[in-house]
Amino acid sequence: MSRQGAERGATGLDGLDCDPGEALLSVRDLRTYYGSGDLIGGDPVKAVDGVSFDVKKGETLGVVGESGCGKTTLGRTLVRLEAATGGEVRVGDDDVTELSGDDLKAWRRNAQVVFQDPESSLNDRMTVGEIVREPLDVHDWGTPAERRERVRSLLKKVGLREEHYYRYPHQFSGGQRQRVGIARALALEPEFVVLDEPVSALDVSVQAQILNLLMDLQEELGLTYLFIAHDLSVVEHICDRVAVMYLGNVMELGPTEELFEDPANPYTRALLSAVPEPDPTAEIDRMTLRGTPPSPRDPPQGCPFSTRCPVKIRPDGFERVDDETWEAIEVFRETLRARSRAERSLSERAREFLGWETRFATVDEVVAELFADRDLPGSVREPVDRASELARDGDEAAALDHLRRELGSVCDHEHPAAHGVGAAGRESRCHRHDDEHEEPAAVGPSVGDAE
Ligand code: SF4
Repeated sequence: MSRQGAERGATGLDGLDCDPGEALLSVRDLRTYYGSGDLIGGDPVKAVDGVSFDVKKGETLGVVGESGCGKTTLGRTLVRLEAATGGEVRVGDDDVTELSGDDLKAWRRNAQVVFQDPESSLNDRMTVGEIVREPLDVHDWGTPAERRERVRSLLKKVGLREEHYYRYPHQFSGGQRQRVGIARALALEPEFVVLDEPVSALDVSVQAQILNLLMDLQEELGLTYLFIAHDLSVVEHICDRVAVMYLGNVMELGPTEELFEDPANPYTRALLSAVPEPDPTAEIDRMTLRGTPPSPRDPPQGCPFSTRCPVKIRPDGFERVDDETWEAIEVFRETLRARSRAERSLSERAREFLGWETRFATVDEVVAELFADRDLPGSVREPVDRASELARDGDEAAALDHLRRELGSVCDHEHPAAHGVGAAGRESRCHRHDDEHEEPAAVGPSVGDAE
């Protein structure tokens, strides 16, 4: 299945030529934040929050994760459709995040995107020929006659016909429109292509044709792909390596086969356990995740997955608290988080100010439902009561802080470092990989191979 492409001459920035398997891009601590909040005082949305990885020449690196995990922003930042807030994207001797002028233009020739929705990504007022020729015109490529010839040859290359040059996108099926999008992306002979969910808007029968086309083109042209997808079965089929993203972070990265067969990170395990199994009789150890991902405006201070992780580490001294009680504590924290994120209307603020009842004044009901029938040890009862008081006063943030201080573990306090797991080049971010927190039965057989 390896997609290591054939050698071809690089056409972009100086120093871009490198051997197959070498890093074409080296991404280090890349961050992309939206809205500094300077004017209105809010926190920025941390769409990509410190990711590091290499993209090897000729490979297909998959990026997977739930909707909103930052994978599309990551792809757009790599090709400079979004500006990075910090970090580096090294290509040869250049840092893509700092390019300007002719160097930036050269990178934009060499790094292209195929977008998800072929319905909306093509201009219906232009003919297919004009659409594919547009990047050639913008970059002043060749003579007009050479451009027309190039477009015709690109149409053939992606499985369309020369006479399609003068047709309009609405005259084509979804699969054909995506072929047009691919032809346009390849017009300037790029070396790096971001495929942003390129088949998810297509019928299943057409998906395979487009995936096969992409693989053939990679083989023929030596392309390097970043393949963004939420459909794990597609990723398993096409990618050499996979990066699993959650809340702007890469939680695990490794060769596709290994990662699918033996996921090391609790989030990867949860994601894979949700994949439908074709054999209905197969026994699957499914993980159901609690709640929804936190807001990227207010990510957890420790591990990004700590608010939902089913194998989260407990703080010292609380190991003997029964699982149901501990689950109730986590649900209480989740409820406080949801309340702290909810917008309070002006009338609700006024009612709170006057001490009147609002929809936020139900914390006692939540606490009663979660804890009334439980015999809580004092070390749990006291922080829960204090947090309830703070929430009752409308300060959910302080309530959450209190619970984190009193009942939080290393997962709540420290961002996990990347640990080498399994084969060389495979890594996962989880405190469970530390010897002192190792829990093979809960996390899987590969955990604990920390470097
Ligand atoms: S660091 Fe903690 S919360 Fe994060 S994935 Fe590992 S066990 Fe779960």
